[in-house]
Amino acid sequence: MISQDQYDTAVKAESEATEVVTQYHKEQLEAFSQRLKDNPVFTEDELRYSARNLCPCGYGLAYPTDCGPMHYWDCSAILRGMADTSVKHTDQLPFAFYSIKSESDRNGTTRDVYRPQPEKPEAPTDDFTGYKAERESRGIL
Ligand SMILES: [Zn+2]
Repeated sequence: MISQDQYDTAVKAESEATEVVTQYHKEQLEAFSQRLKDNPVFTEDELRYSARNLCPCGYGLAYPTDCGPMHYWDCSAILRGMADTSVKHTDQLPFAFYSIKSESDRNGTTRDVYRPQPEKPEAPTDDFTGYKAERESRGIL
């Protein structure tokens, strides 16, 4: 039978271990934040790519492998510091809100993929206004 002393010792060890684990994650996160501040450009080896999702610019979505659980998916061209600033890129997509499959042998990868979308004309923003004005001018309201 486990004595009260053994139990108390185990509880204390567990609490100390939790503290070490928590501190470890905190330090990792701080190191990553600092890295992001000092040098936000990552190498291919430092990134995990999506299995299928691409940025509108044509490169795969990715995130740095050292980031924390509150981080986000971003354009891999931006993360690698080679993004064309004249084209549209994805917003940062937080892990918490977007379930995007990571690359794997089974799911495939968007690493080395570059599949730009054909140029689309800018969507008109005054569609409804124009429609409404036309209806008004014809007296149909
Ligand atoms: Zn992009």
